[in-house]
Amino acid sequence: MRTRRLELLRPEEIVAEKQTRPVVYLPVGPLEWHGPHLPLGVDPLVAHAAALGAADQTGGVVVPPLYLGTDVAHSPDALRDLGFEGDEQIVGMDFPANSVRSLYADEAIFAATVRHVVDMLAERGWRVVALVSGHGGENQVEALTRIAGEITAAGGASVLYCRAWLDTSGLPAGHSGGGHADATETSLMMHLHPESVELAALPTSDEPLRNVDWAIIDGATFEGRPDQSRTVQADPRALSSAADGEAYLQAIVTGIVDQVREALEAIDGD
Ligand SMILES: [Zn+2]
Repeated sequence: MRTRRLELLRPEEIVAEKQTRPVVYLPVGPLEWHGPHLPLGVDPLVAHAAALGAADQTGGVVVPPLYLGTDVAHSPDALRDLGFEGDEQIVGMDFPANSVRSLYADEAIFAATVRHVVDMLAERGWRVVALVSGHGGENQVEALTRIAGEITAAGGASVLYCRAWLDTSGLPAGHSGGGHADATETSLMMHLHPESVELAALPTSDEPLRNVDWAIIDGATFEGRPDQSRTVQADPRALSSAADGEAYLQAIVTGIVDQVREALEAIDGD
């Protein structure tokens, strides 16, 4: 196929693809602080690239990314894991020291918007809708999982919640999956949009990266296993490369392709 991007396809191309491979991908993620060295669009940009990579293998088309996401205030335990006192009111990655605030949407508006887009796609005959999310905010994951389950149960389309990030099992030793603006996300951006990465915006490597100063977080910290010093171990300054980013993207794509193929087989069996 000439392109998988829905916005660049002509009507007859869309009709032909829908008849043979009725799969549509919807990448989602907020514009969100990702440290001083990365752009705000990491999550939706990675989700878009992962969706395009998956569509190349499964067929189907990719809707332009929905630059929308949501997040919540951290619990006292989570705040202490990050190195805060525990009584602060901090939403997502919007730490007090950041120079720019994220654009987190109200959860109800986020969920209603995603649901509306999925409903439109299902009504237009796409039988598998893959929601590809680059953002792991608790309430975003819950909302997408709920939407996928409810619309699938109602019988309109098979809606999948797909993660555009890796868990630790997909990574080399020393890396933890599910981190934020850490070596993994930095590597992905070095592969996808190298011009947007500026490692020199971080302090020199003899200075540890404290979570509270930079809002750069290891996956292990999100899982309640922070480093004692409350500093970043999957250090983007030491452990990032475009080659790693390419490998991570391939691993993410493989996971999504497996999910979508399974849903397509279930439909073929109808
Ligand atoms: Zn991210």
